[in-house]
Amino acid sequence: MSWFHQNIKILEKIDPKVAEIIKKELLRQELTLELIASENFVTEAIMQAEAQVLTNKYAEGYPGKRYYGGCENYDLLENLAIERAKKLFSAEHANVQPHSGSQANMAVYFAFLEPGNKVLAMDLSHGGHLTHGSPINFSGKLYKFIHYGVEKDSEVLNYEKIRKLALLHRPKIIVAGASAYPRKIDFAEFRKIADEVGAYLLADIAHIAGLIVAGLHPDPVPYADFVTTTLQKTLRGPRGGLILCKKEFAEKIDKAVFPGVQSGPQMHIIAAKALTFLLAKTREFKDYQKQIILNTRTLAQKLSEKGFRIVSGGTDNHLLIVDLRQNNITGKEGQEILEEANIVTNKNTIPFDSQSPFITSGIRLGTPCVTSRGMKEGEMEEIALYIQQALEKKEIKQKVIDICKRFPIYE
Ligand SMILES: *Cc1c(COP(=O)(O)O)cnc(C)c1O
Repeated sequence: MSWFHQNIKILEKIDPKVAEIIKKELLRQELTLELIASENFVTEAIMQAEAQVLTNKYAEGYPGKRYYGGCENYDLLENLAIERAKKLFSAEHANVQPHSGSQANMAVYFAFLEPGNKVLAMDLSHGGHLTHGSPINFSGKLYKFIHYGVEKDSEVLNYEKIRKLALLHRPKIIVAGASAYPRKIDFAEFRKIADEVGAYLLADIAHIAGLIVAGLHPDPVPYADFVTTTLQKTLRGPRGGLILCKKEFAEKIDKAVFPGVQSGPQMHIIAAKALTFLLAKTREFKDYQKQIILNTRTLAQKLSEKGFRIVSGGTDNHLLIVDLRQNNITGKEGQEILEEANIVTNKNTIPFDSQSPFITSGIRLGTPCVTSRGMKEGEMEEIALYIQQALEKKEIKQKVIDICKRFPIYE
């Protein structure tokens, strides 16, 4: 970990308090099992790209059309990131400036909706995201969202029901995508529905982008008018967003991002985005994504064998939802008990949950982080056992620390 100590030396001298907190956080990451499905551990190279002099510059505008002087290197960098993103996703146009996944979605809405317009998206309590019309989010305040959900018995999407909702409400945009849905999403089916009602199709692949570029999940790019994603989840890049779209929408999307919802782009993050797109084309990345799927499937299977109920009966992707009702604990309690044993998860609503989003009946488990550490199926079996034992209030924290020590994140 010499690079880490090297990197923090100056900060330690000038601000020992902040440096101390960062060192504590490194230790926390190394010694806990991180199972939060939306997180990942970036490589040292990504952190190196993020932590550069590029942070110093305002580069408002786009390559060749900046508002400030001195942007020649930023033009080179942003063009490189755009070209790599287009190539990676086989997309006609890419905007690499969104500061986050939420701002990517905001830009698409701003470009193609007027306040009060209708949008059809997935219900939050069934796996949708805040920006898919939560009443406490800008999306739910500005637009009229109608929500589709999963079936009560199978807990998977029913495209015929989504089609009926679309025909009934005639939304201007249909959003396909989720934060807590363990099954594949059929973007071709969504396209058919959107065409039938004359709606735009937005595919929000924030969680599954890594799986998609590795060819392990259906690809929305041929079907969707706009694709939004984050980079920090399965793509294993810096915190930030990306919008892909058809050429005909490029101008509107670019204007919505800047000057519509953002001003200066974070060029140091765009450097790390360019690197993320390069790495995502490698053989190693594809193998990594394959291992994520194997690990998640194994974890679901082992938990199921131990008597846990897995929402929808399993998983096709990087996450699974455990229904804790039959264990007589809430999602909130489950999260807290596991955290005592150094297993970090998040409480999550299950479909048709009778508990509030602050309590919930389930927990969401994802494997991108533990897979980044090099863990495989054997370790998933161990983790399933530790989850069971921790929830039975057995003392297993030391075992969790031991497995973490066997798989250091940063050498
Ligand atoms: C994570 C997520 C986002 C938002 O990403 P942020 O970078 O946290 O703003 C948007 N949509 C979905 C489906 C997500 O899971």
